[in-house]
Formats: sequence, structure tokens, C-alpha cells
Amino acid sequence: MSDVSRQALRRRTFAIISHPDAGKTTLTEKLLLFGGAIQMAGSVKGRKAARHATSDWMKLEQERGISVTSSVMQFPYDGRIVNLLDTPGHADFGEDTYRVLTAVDSALMVIDVAKGVEERTIKLMEVCRMRDTPIMTFINKLDREGKDPIELLDEVETVLGIQCAPVTWPIGMGKRLKGVVHLISGEVHLYEQGRNFTRQDSTIFASIDDPLLEARIGADMLSDLRDELELVQGASHSFDLDAYHAGRQTPVFFGSAVNNFGVQPLLDFFVKHAPPPQPRETTERAVMPDEAKLTGFVFKIQANMDPQHRDRVAFMRVCSGRFEAGMKAFHVRSGKEMKLANALTFMASDREIAVEAWPGDVIGIHNHGTISIGDTFTEGERFSFTGIPNFAPELFRRARLRDPLKLKQLQKGLEQLSEEGATQFFRPLMSNDLILGAVGVLQFDVAAYRLKAEYGVDAIFEPVGVATTRWIHCDSEKKLEEFREKNAANLGIDAAGELVYLAPSRVNLQLAQERWPDVRFAATRETA
Ligand code: GDP
Repeated sequence: MSDVSRQALRRRTFAIISHPDAGKTTLTEKLLLFGGAIQMAGSVKGRKAARHATSDWMKLEQERGISVTSSVMQFPYDGRIVNLLDTPGHADFGEDTYRVLTAVDSALMVIDVAKGVEERTIKLMEVCRMRDTPIMTFINKLDREGKDPIELLDEVETVLGIQCAPVTWPIGMGKRLKGVVHLISGEVHLYEQGRNFTRQDSTIFASIDDPLLEARIGADMLSDLRDELELVQGASHSFDLDAYHAGRQTPVFFGSAVNNFGVQPLLDFFVKHAPPPQPRETTERAVMPDEAKLTGFVFKIQANMDPQHRDRVAFMRVCSGRFEAGMKAFHVRSGKEMKLANALTFMASDREIAVEAWPGDVIGIHNHGTISIGDTFTEGERFSFTGIPNFAPELFRRARLRDPLKLKQLQKGLEQLSEEGATQFFRPLMSNDLILGAVGVLQFDVAAYRLKAEYGVDAIFEPVGVATTRWIHCDSEKKLEEFREKNAANLGIDAAGELVYLAPSRVNLQLAQERWPDVRFAATRETA
């Protein structure tokens, strides 16, 4: 077996998805604890605080109590290398989350036992379904009263349309929580409070028939448990690896993240069964992870991580081959070789200089705006990874300066912020307006705040007559020219220089589409 195959097979790259407050941050913290990456719970929050200190605009994040940055954490566990890609929690930052999900091989869904399937869970599930991403489910907060577990699985199956295969099953709930039974190994893990800093589930019995178990949980409870297990095993699906890998079935675990309970069975199962790096489609061919040459794509840009240096970090998911510090790679979009100097890896505790990286890993490449979301790197081959979406924004504002002399800075700021992908920047062909598009209204506040903090520009955002945008494609040069001429008043270019139709209303868009059947109006700019 080649080094690349061996290293690829060890990798597990995933993201946690959940409705805000279900316990994603807490669970992340416990996973890192098992990975030996942190010694004490609380460190993830600590890390957040440290980042606030380095980047001034994140004060806004703090004030609003939201998380707008996502990061990458790598840790070893049980002979595997786990890459956990964090997704921002706030609903307004959905786009970023979508793109993170294109860079993983599987996902972990966290559900609050009392709340069940929530609105954001549904949305994220839709995104996972687009690529049939395999999903494991962790039902959290079992130390509190919540919905009946059987009803909850039913809810997941009907609302999310995915088969559930419980792998652990709770013994009691809330104040009566005694533990979980592992339905595959038969083991019983007892719940003991105050163990939230230790790495092991404390007391484990080999089966529910262990005579000592009765003494611990009581005869009544044990007898109820036996009845319930019979019911569950009769009524639910058993774990099927293929169905899980195809995204049709989700293995389900129960526990309490804050008490670090039920997390270890989840992690053990995860590293064993979650898929290693998968083949990826490109414009030319599918790329296999065990190919010898390095390929990868950029799914996220973070600007000004360090305001002193105005640097931007492009997060690249390695899809095949081996990355080595200082190597050159071919940047397909510009057609140029680029030295990947000082690339970062993301060992959980800190950012570090990458020595090497393998399929499934993420590296951070410093640059000054040459790299965009969706860009592909190879060792010379010309193809692009497909499927990294750029969504059509739904809200539009015109940027207005309080100090007209700062126009250059404003333009630069808007361009750079839009490289991160949360907002999009348009310039109409026929006017000097600078228009910002976003999927959520909060993003205009974030943009105004960052323009001021990072670019020294005082701008406000005011309403503008744009209802929606479409990227324009046309196979015939002549038709396109004609279309441009007739519709110049409604056309603009985006930050990447692509032609975009800025529709003043939905009706207008519909009419234009009917009038120009040869022109394609694309709602997403699939970076290809
Ligand atoms: P996120 O928004 O999904 O990242 O959620 P957090 O991890 O920040 O958790 C939201 C709240 O739920 C916090 O107050 C946590 O302390 C709490 N929480 C997380 N896990 C548990 C749990 O297992 N039991 C209880 N009772 N609370 C929890």
C-alpha cells in the first residue's frame, strides 16, 4: 500500500451540524478532550476568547453572542487522524456552513433531546442530502427531561427522511438517567456525575445480564429496560454500514455532552465506521484520494485573521496526494505556479506550520487576495473541483460613504470581504454604485463594522432597487452581446468579474428569462 493510501485511510474529516444551542461547542470540546488535544473542558470557549483578542471585529461576534468564524481542529484518536471542521452556528451565516459541508466526508448531527428536530437541523440536512453525506446523530442533554427516545427517532425519520439505527440506548433520562446500553457490543455504560473531565466512561458492564448491574440501577428499572430494548430492537433498524455510507441511514447515539457521557461510544464508533476521504468530482474526471499527486480545493477564506498583517488565509481541503512544506502547486484559475509557503495546519490547540498534509486534511494558505473560494490546486493538471456553491444573495444594499474621499478603500474593503463568501459585491455596468448582496440582514452590520475597524471606512448601507441576481451564461457570443446591449441597465459584474443580471423585481427576471431563451440565468455561481 502506498503512503498516500495508508494516510488517506486513517483520516476522518467531518463537521458537526446542529441548531444553535443543541450543544455543538460542548461536544466539540469533549471530542478534543478524548483526542488528547486539550486537558480541560472549557478550552474551546477559551480558544474563542483568544481569537477575539487577535481580531478586533470579532467584538461584534461577542456582543451578539454568535459565532461567525469557523475553524479546523485536528486530533489523533485510536490510530486515526480526525479533522473536525467547525461550522458557524448563526442562521445568517448559512452559506459558509454549506461550503464547509462540501469539504467533509461525513457529518455529525446534534439534537437536543427536549427540542427534537429544529428548523436549522432540517436545512442542514437538506444540504447534506445534496451530496448524500453520511450522518451520525448524537441526541444530547439526556441529563434533562426530554422527548421519549422512541418518539424522537420517529421524528427524525419522518421529518428528516432518514432511517435511524440506534447504536446506544438510554437507561432513563433527566434525574433518572442511569446510563446507556450499547446495542451492538451489549455493554452498559453507567452514568456518573462529575466525570466530565475524565476521558473514560467510568463504569462499564459487559452486558445487561451482569448481576452487579441490578444492584446499581435497581430491579424495576432493569426490567423496564429489558422490555424497552425488546421493543426498540423489534421496531427499529439495525446498523447497516452501506446504508449509512449512502446517506440513507443514520446511526444514533444518546448522551450528555456537558457531562461527557455517551461521547466515547460515539467517537469509537465514528473512527471505525465513518468514511475516509472519498473520490471527488472535477470538470475533467473523478480524483481518487490515493493518487500520488497533490490536489485540493479552497472552501473558505478568512480575511485579516491578524489585523496587523492584512493577511488572508485560504482553507484548502487536500483531496489527493501529499502536501509538503514549501512545495509549489499549480493554481488552476490563474494558470500559475504558486509557492505554498508557511502553510498552516490546524492541530487542535493552535495554528501551526504544516510539515505535511494528506487527503482529508486542511491546510491554510496565506495570500493577499490571489486565491478565491472554489479555487483548485494541482501539480499541473488543468481541472477544477466542482460543487462548491456560491449562492445568490437575497438582500441588497448600496454602500454610501460618509467621507467620499475614501472610495478606493471602500471598494477594496468590499471586494476583500466578499472573497470570504458571506457577502457578494456587485458593480452595475451603468452606474458607479457599489452594491452588496447578502443572505442575511446581519451581514450588512458585520460589513459596516469591519469596514470601519479594518479599512477605516465609515459607510452605511441603504436600500437599492435590486430584488435578486442571476449569473449569466450563453453559448453564443453573438446572442450574449445582444443581450448585454439590450439589458445594460440591469447588468453588473461580481467581484470575480462575472456577468450578473441585477433584477429589479422577480417579475422583471421572469420576463427577461422568457424573452431570452438562449441565455441561462443561474441562481448559484458554481465555482468550476
Ligand atoms: P451550540 O450553540 O450548539 O454550540 O451549543 P453549546 O455547546 O454552546 O451549548 C448550549 C447550552 O447547552 C450551553 O449552556 C451548554 O452548557 C448546554 N449544554 C450542552 N450540553 C448539555 C448537556 O448535555 N446537558 C445540559 N443540561 N446542558 C448542556
